[in-house]
Amino acid sequence: MVKILVDNNVCIGCGLCAHDCPMKVYAIKDGRSVVVNQDDCMQCLSCHEVCPSNAIEHQDIYLSRRLYVDLEVCSMLRRFI
Ligand code: SF4
Ligand code: SF4
Repeated sequence: MVKILVDNNVCIGCGLCAHDCPMKVYAIKDGRSVVVNQDDCMQCLSCHEVCPSNAIEHQDIYLSRRLYVDLEVCSMLRRFI
């Protein structure tokens, strides 16, 4: 199972990970990102793409599943599938 770590020493609490994660894995609490829904992570790594601080680490992830998921792209695709 994937394990998600957020480095609170570099997280600036911008909220981009919480906003962009399609599975609502993150929440912002006390100005920092916390993992609240790890089991639903689909390993798309969108949060890595958007984090300006490189604060997020995924452990035990399969690189073959790496896929950037953008919420706008997802909503566009839903019109067709
Ligand atoms: S890898 Fe994707 S599903 Fe998992 S926490 Fe990051 S944005 Fe959310
Ligand atoms: S995107 Fe990065 S810096 Fe911003 S809240 Fe999430 S972990 Fe913190």
